[in-house]
Order: sequence, then C-alpha cells, then structure tokens
Amino acid sequence: MVTGTYVPDDAAIEADVVLEPVHGGVMASGHVRAGWVGSCRRCLEPVTGTLETEVRELYEPGSDETETYLLNGDQLDLEPLVRDAVLLGLPQAPLCEEGCRGLCATCGAELDQGPCGCPDP
Ligand SMILES: [Zn+2]
Ligand SMILES: [Zn+2]
Repeated sequence: MVTGTYVPDDAAIEADVVLEPVHGGVMASGHVRAGWVGSCRRCLEPVTGTLETEVRELYEPGSDETETYLLNGDQLDLEPLVRDAVLLGLPQAPLCEEGCRGLCATCGAELDQGPCGCPDP
C-alpha cells in the first residue's frame, strides 16, 4: 500500500533555527514545524497533523552534502535542511485516531461508522 503522507505546497513550514559558528563550519540547530496531510492506514480517511522535529546539522565548506550541508562562503541555504527534516519527520503510516478500526476485510465498510453485519472473521 502506498501511503501518501506529504506536506502540501501551500503549507506553512516554520523553521526556528539558530546558527552558531563552530570549528570548521556553522552548526544550525533548532526546530522545524510543518503541517502534513495523509490518509489513515486503516480506513483511508484523510488525516492531517503537524510534525515538529528537532534539527542539529553542520554546515561546512566543501561539503558533499551527504553527512553535512554546504556552507558557501558565509552563505548557507536552510532549505535542504528543512526539507530533509520534514521528510524524516513525516509519519509513514498515520492513523485518523488511535482506536481506528479500519475497514471490514469482507465488505469494506468503515467499522467506525458501526458494525457492517458481516460475521467476525
Ligand atoms: Zn482511520
Ligand atoms: Zn463487512
């Protein structure tokens, strides 16, 4: 099953990041917050939520951008950091609510709407 959890293009992504010079680069630390949309892994109803994730990443000159990010002179681009943080923080299999009972395996009815009348498996 494909879970399509993503951050919509028009969603506000907040990044609250403090930059501090460290030996050999700049440490960017803080947190990133973004709204996401997806569908419940059990009943496929739309689900929305907010992810909030801590970041602490090093920017350094000449970075190959695998372990660290690129510090270009005294310029750095927070966008890749924010994008990565959001991707890592997205729930891969969200639930509309903890107790979601999902769909009946027999008839596909939403069990949260009431029993569908199928015999218990
Ligand atoms: Zn659900
Ligand atoms: Zn059923």
